[in-house]
Amino acid sequence: MKTDDVVIEVKKLKKAYGKNQVLKGIDLKVQRGTMLALLGPNGAGKTTTVKILSTLLKADDGVAKIEGIDVSEDPDAVRRVIGLTGQSAAVDELLTGRENLVMMGELYRLTRKSAKARAQELLEDFDLVKAADRPAKTYSGGMRRRLDLAVSLIAIPPVIFLDEPTTGLDPRSRLAMWEIIRRLMDSGTTILLTTQYLEEADQLADKIVVIDGGKVIAEGTAEELKGKVGNDRLEIGFANASDLNKAKSAIGKNVFASNDKENSITVMVKDTNTDIKDTLNLLSDKKIKVTAVDVHKPTLDDVFLSLTGKTDKKSTEGEK
Ligand code: ADP
Repeated sequence: MKTDDVVIEVKKLKKAYGKNQVLKGIDLKVQRGTMLALLGPNGAGKTTTVKILSTLLKADDGVAKIEGIDVSEDPDAVRRVIGLTGQSAAVDELLTGRENLVMMGELYRLTRKSAKARAQELLEDFDLVKAADRPAKTYSGGMRRRLDLAVSLIAIPPVIFLDEPTTGLDPRSRLAMWEIIRRLMDSGTTILLTTQYLEEADQLADKIVVIDGGKVIAEGTAEELKGKVGNDRLEIGFANASDLNKAKSAIGKNVFASNDKENSITVMVKDTNTDIKDTLNLLSDKKIKVTAVDVHKPTLDDVFLSLTGKTDKKSTEGEK
């Protein structure tokens, strides 16, 4: 279900810790039944944003509304429509998975009977039936995250915040979590996901907002963001530094990045049919020997690196 109605709306959100201005005016809009990924490196301000939206923290300035309710004016009403999972969610380590779920159900005023029924449903959905009656402290990292998410879903909230749900998980557990998140999306839940993994945002989100240093630095669909850094990428390898340098001056401003350790360069390709041939012909004319050629589609990594400049490859000036 996708409509035009905006479920999460954030305008010019600001927050400082002492002199450290960690949010410098964030704007976000999430439409009903869609997922927005807030993507950014460590310290970008993702958790701070989610804490403000989930009423755990007060903003200094700006407006944040969930389902039209202002988080600072009516935090109780906001809490009734959201589920929060991630670093700040509460799972009692000493209770079993089932007990955690039933307790949370009762906290949300379900009768004991419906809390138990809902708990069983979630244990099944999240592949936790076998471990249901063991204390949560015996759970693996992946099981623990699944329980965390299950607990936040007990009252079937229409809006869910997933704060770095897969950070630190092994690849298999990450894939299992993605499956669960996809099912959640299929059920029409509106989701704000924070992640430092480009691939996660690419795989799951309808829209991505990239933040760095407390500011939005780019937004769009994964495809739109990839489109911003050109079409295909051509990587060319050379035998030594001397050939690499000759190639760099021959190709000039079309060199997007160079990796001096590996004697290779990346060239942006706007037209696959002509640009690759032209570039290789140019090198051949100048008698520069090419040892490897690889063409690939831009990844979100390319986008992120070109936006933030955080890379071990050196970006060419003027190409940002
Ligand atoms: P992210 O989730 O993107 O990693 P955070 O929102 O956790 O980023 O943090 C943003 C910045 O705010 C960081 O520089 C962090 O050190 C700082 N910060 C976070 N929480 C606190 C706090 N309670 N007191 C002081 N500084 C904080």
